[in-house]
Amino acid sequence: MIAITIDVDGEAGLGDGYALRLSSRSERVYGLVRGLPRMLGVLDEFGAAATFYVPGVTALAWPDVVRELVARGFEIGHHGHTHTRPDLVADARAEIADGLAALTSLGADVRGYRAPCWELSPATLDVLPEHFEWDSSLMGDDRPYVLPNGLIELPVHWSLDDAPYFPGDVRALEHTWRSELAVAAAEVRPLTLTLHPEILGRPSRIDALRRVLDDARRLGVRTITHAALAGSVRSAGG
Ligand SMILES: [Zn+2]
Repeated sequence: MIAITIDVDGEAGLGDGYALRLSSRSERVYGLVRGLPRMLGVLDEFGAAATFYVPGVTALAWPDVVRELVARGFEIGHHGHTHTRPDLVADARAEIADGLAALTSLGADVRGYRAPCWELSPATLDVLPEHFEWDSSLMGDDRPYVLPNGLIELPVHWSLDDAPYFPGDVRALEHTWRSELAVAAAEVRPLTLTLHPEILGRPSRIDALRRVLDDARRLGVRTITHAALAGSVRSAGG
């Protein structure tokens, strides 16, 4: 099984230092207006399931995007409210509550969490079981595992994230992801990939996703949401 996860950050988390940096901000906007539709087109080609992690402030700024994702049957996960790194958040409980309120106000059934910048903190981890069934922020294994607080961890890694490959050649990403998929299939374990609309949604890069999904189809690997993956881990563990 392969979980395609898409972090729709928007302009969240750019911080005060970006208030006057219109070019940097507009690259994030591109992700919503152009990159995301392009990704959805590829997912549609393959009938692929996907999970979208969205910060609360981005959901509130782009409510129709979230409503459309929900209407199309995609899963929405919590990605912080302000997309602040959890280790830098002053009030972890409020950050979780605010993001959850934003997403649920748009009709999303939110059952999982992903830490912005993959810096999960002890304070945030303590709050998660009150609201969520899984987390997808840690790198302690390449198979799902159960955290001491009972939460299911759907692990990630920087090599399975599009961001570190750019600026650079998309072929490095494609080679790594296809190799990871082949090994995951051989080892009969799931794989989570993380995409950003403003990064892999560029015209010259989107074919990498298409080729990964082609491989998955050829290998008999099906796409799965994180909710379904967490559910399968839960039932396998009894
Ligand atoms: Zn993010």
